[in-house]
Amino acid sequence: MDAISYERAGDVAGAVRAVQQPGAMFIGGGTNLLDLMKGGVARPMRLIDITHISGLDTVTTLPNGGLRIGALVRNSDAANHSLVREQYPLLSQALLAGASPQLRNMATVGGNLMQRTRCGYFYDTAFTQCNKRMPGSGCAALEGHNRMQAIFGASPQCIAVNPSDMSVALAALDAVVRVTGPAGERTIPFAEFHRLPGDRPDVDTSLQPGELITAVDLPPPLFSANSHYLKVRDRASYAFALVSVAAALQMDGNHVRVARIALGCVAHKPWRASTAEQMLNGQPLTQTRLHNAAAAALRDARPQRDNRFKVQLAQRAIVRAVNQAAGRTGGVA
Ligand SMILES: Cc1cc2nc3c(=O)[nH]c(=O)nc-3n(C[C@H](O)[C@H](O)[C@H](O)COP(=O)(O)OP(=O)(O)OC[C@H]3O[C@@H](n4cnc5c(N)ncnc54)[C@H](O)[C@@H]3O)c2cc1C
Repeated sequence: MDAISYERAGDVAGAVRAVQQPGAMFIGGGTNLLDLMKGGVARPMRLIDITHISGLDTVTTLPNGGLRIGALVRNSDAANHSLVREQYPLLSQALLAGASPQLRNMATVGGNLMQRTRCGYFYDTAFTQCNKRMPGSGCAALEGHNRMQAIFGASPQCIAVNPSDMSVALAALDAVVRVTGPAGERTIPFAEFHRLPGDRPDVDTSLQPGELITAVDLPPPLFSANSHYLKVRDRASYAFALVSVAAALQMDGNHVRVARIALGCVAHKPWRASTAEQMLNGQPLTQTRLHNAAAAALRDARPQRDNRFKVQLAQRAIVRAVNQAAGRTGGVA
């Protein structure tokens, strides 16, 4: 058994300082990190507990009308906060679609953004090939069971997907991640926060060493009237998505003024369906246009042997989620 030291950070500066020690990692709710440690996937020598830092567990309105959600806000509290429910129902729905009530009570917003892939070859150390766990060792998923893996943005090094539901909604909402590190504070647009695997699948995000996520900022609420999070999974609860869709619309009668569509569990990061968005923007929302947009969203998909079904599933899920967001019924997933 490895010896692990535990340290409780009192403030942001202390946490950033402490995590620069060799082998140190932040721990939030621990719902992902402790599993990874038990399985021998993560082997920190020092745990820096950030959950007692004050000021990071609040939801506050921003001067521009947006919302700041502190990194230590628990997933349950974020989902059930009155401002999130009223102004960003898409985010509330995505959070409530994740994990279980008990896990959501523990999990933090920062930890949710940083959760690792659920690829079985990453989790099971009996497999000696996993470039994400052991850079340079290969990717067992390429020739293995790859039903849950990526259909977009994969590389010969890694075909794993990002499993976070919350992140799919944040991608559609164009959130911004606030971080503090040894070099000070900075913000990261959500689209740049998670990475594609390329030849460094061991690196999930654009966070620099020692950086602490302090909050997520949401722009002013433009999509509260017309949004929907659709999660398609093997069983109705307590399962990661096969495919998910965050759809957010600004409607003007039957016309779509602005469409935002993000897909989850299809890539190493939440995947914005920009082509489909452009095909809907400024146009009447007809079923033909919507089906064409959904087809265009999947045109460049590169499925693996076992997950070709995700292509059609994602198309149908886009149709259904956009229709639901527009307040209509229609489309099957
Ligand atoms: C059985 C099970 C089912 C689940 N189902 C779902 C699901 O359906 N959908 C879904 O989206 N998620 C699901 N999850 C994942 C769950 O949402 C994550 O485990 C949780 O959000 C992680 O948050 P945490 O605070 O516990 O993170 P921790 O486990 O404490 O930390 C996770 C990682 O984040 C880092 N970290 C934590 N906070 C910060 C910070 N502020 N700044 C920088 N780094 C930080 C840690 O160092 C660690 O690397 C499931 C988990 C389990 C165990």
